[in-house]
Amino acid sequence: RAYNFNAGPAALPLKVLERAQAEFVDFRETGMSIMEMSHRGAVYESVHNEAQERLLRLLGNPEGYKVLFLQGGASTQFAMIPMNFLKQGTVGSYVMTGSWADKALKEAKLFGETHIAASSKEDQYMKIPDLDHLELPEHTAYLHITSNETIEGVQYQKYPETGRVPLIADMSSDILCRPVDIGRFDMIYAGAQKNLGPSGVTVVIAKEELLAGQAENIPTMLRYSTFLKNNSLYNTPPSFSVYMVNEVLRWIEEEGGLNALGQMNGDKASLLYDRIDQSGGFYRGCAEPKDRSLMNVTFRLASEELEKLFVKESEKEGFVGLKGHRSVGGLRASIYNAVPYESCKALADFMDTFQKQHG
Ligand code: PLP
Repeated sequence: RAYNFNAGPAALPLKVLERAQAEFVDFRETGMSIMEMSHRGAVYESVHNEAQERLLRLLGNPEGYKVLFLQGGASTQFAMIPMNFLKQGTVGSYVMTGSWADKALKEAKLFGETHIAASSKEDQYMKIPDLDHLELPEHTAYLHITSNETIEGVQYQKYPETGRVPLIADMSSDILCRPVDIGRFDMIYAGAQKNLGPSGVTVVIAKEELLAGQAENIPTMLRYSTFLKNNSLYNTPPSFSVYMVNEVLRWIEEEGGLNALGQMNGDKASLLYDRIDQSGGFYRGCAEPKDRSLMNVTFRLASEELEKLFVKESEKEGFVGLKGHRSVGGLRASIYNAVPYESCKALADFMDTFQKQHG
């Protein structure tokens, strides 16, 4: 297997792929693949419900929360959130931490009044802004945050206190990477293709009362209440992706749940950040150390030429996906849940060798 450091779609656990392969053609002795079954049948529905239950169990079975499976990626959530929650006379507040927060805000502006609650744009989004003294406009409908900025490589270490204002988080690139107090959030959402499974399904976990609100003049498929009322089976769901999510969640349980993953992810990230910090300036971490992401390690070399050479040499050694996002350049190692410690160790060793040759 390649040392896969892609930012998304990203590595999946080998065990999950092998399990899916084993039951790909004949799922649970039905003589059919899960992909070929009716989404209204008992077999698919049990997988669908199992995935929802597993996800809530991993999050500590919080009371009053529901799981929805949607399509259109996290990007569609950028629009659905204001469409459903930004009523006339209210304001959508956003914390600006990077490229994805930017995109979320842009969509909200199409639907109503917005407010920037805090921003680290002046620092090129290389840190999470100070949120200790957050002041929100009186009629704030929600505060939206991006818990991990995949492109810049910054991640919240603690979440803002919002009082009665609903807190909504885009957790696309760090969902289930460590224990989380889900009770702090009214809604979290994530495109599956980093920590949850393959692309094609977007997961929403939210307080039922928030989802139940009747939004008017919104197309049926863009209303949360449609998915809530129909257990995300109003229309044909992305059934294979949901099945894969269920298998990834099973794998997380087998690994020991979120505490165990948090520990593993911390160890993996430390390997790489230590290598960067101990390189005497040969490698430079992009994000402020206190806000460094456990999932996306962004770093630079002295010149773009050297960075290009790093990518080229790394590819020869079997490393994939180390080029930084085209909008910011540099290098990025995405080390989501499924990336094994051994891949990170191999990368740290490669970085060492590369420095010896070019330092
Ligand atoms: N939000 C974050 C933090 C992301 O990393 C991404 C994708 O990389 C998105 C949103 C967009 O997700 P999608 O491609 O599922 O629309």
